[in-house]
Amino acid sequence: MSIKRVHSAKDLAINGAPPAFDQPLHVGRPNIGDHENFLAMTRKILGDCWLTNNGPLVRQLEGRIADMLGVGHCVAMCNGTVALEIAIRALGLKGEVIVPSWTFIATAHALHWQGITPVFADIDPTTHNLDPDAVRRMITPRTSGIIGVHLWGRPAPATSLQALADEYGLQLMFDAAHAFGCSYQDRSIGNFGACEVFSFHATKVFNTFEGGAVVTNDGKLAEKMRLMRNFGFAGYDDVIHPGTNGKMPEINAAMGLVNLANFPAFVEANRRAYTTYAEALSGINGITVLSHDPANEPNYHYVVAEVDDDFACSRDVLVAALQAENVLARKYFWPGCHNMKPYHDLFPNAGLALPSTEAVAQRVIVLPNGMNLPEGSIKLITDVFRTMSRMS
Ligand SMILES: *Cc1c(COP(=O)(O)O)cnc(C)c1O
Repeated sequence: MSIKRVHSAKDLAINGAPPAFDQPLHVGRPNIGDHENFLAMTRKILGDCWLTNNGPLVRQLEGRIADMLGVGHCVAMCNGTVALEIAIRALGLKGEVIVPSWTFIATAHALHWQGITPVFADIDPTTHNLDPDAVRRMITPRTSGIIGVHLWGRPAPATSLQALADEYGLQLMFDAAHAFGCSYQDRSIGNFGACEVFSFHATKVFNTFEGGAVVTNDGKLAEKMRLMRNFGFAGYDDVIHPGTNGKMPEINAAMGLVNLANFPAFVEANRRAYTTYAEALSGINGITVLSHDPANEPNYHYVVAEVDDDFACSRDVLVAALQAENVLARKYFWPGCHNMKPYHDLFPNAGLALPSTEAVAQRVIVLPNGMNLPEGSIKLITDVFRTMSRMS
């Protein structure tokens, strides 16, 4: 990997200079643990000829995750989206369910796909998470539940959302796809609401190639989800529940066990990268790196900055400048689920109730992260910010 220096406007790739990085730097490049350990487990899977169907590695991974999070039950799944769908069905959600629009599209799709209406509530612009007052405003007689999202691994206001759910007799669950290894007020994420759903997709802080899990302290709910993920089979010839195929294969569980062993190192690398970014970007007018509440444990996986009107150029111009340098910064989750075609077609005026979502969507930029950032790259990435801040 060759790296050039960026000192002035004319050094920028947008002016025809070569890009700062000869290979693209991604947001969410996979964190991969010990390769030899993974290959040894793969050989064992092949030798034992047990590839899927609630195998020993899946059960081992479920046990390790439940222990790590201090939660009663972990049900591993083939991916986070199917895990959301199964959790939504197991809780009996129907009619309308309140979700943020400021999330990955799968949160909304998991409802819509099952004939349930996602109703978008606004966020607190300082935390990017659901604003409980905005949730309250969206409750109707058709509302059956709330799905909170711990966006960027920063916990949603679980205590207030639980109080609201209790007041109106609603179910509460969480999309915790970003929040593996995080905590809220000294309890691990995974212990809030009726259940919480993780994604172990390759881009997430902890991955199993593709994968996910639902965790819960409700044994009956866990049992129901175990049936639902395996076609409702209770025995060889005995189907006792409607179901789908949400099973995690053994090879994915092997990746999970290897990555779990290395998880503290992933978080430590993220913490160092986050700190380096935050220090280098502090003092640039119009750039704010989202911080973490010291009361909650983060996994530091997403480095999220906001570009406001004080910055010398627009967020989109800054993103274009970074991308020209092969820094593939993203505008996650611009433009918000409610502005994506399926939901905009259904609810063309949803944005009127989502002023903070619309404002945050214009400002946000997510920066490359993970174990595999080349040495010195954060300095260079932040040099691009600095150079752009002088271009007016
Ligand atoms: C990644 C993600 C999902 C979907 O998980 P998959 O494992 O990719 O299906 C759901 N919600 C959020 C917030 C996500 O970031």
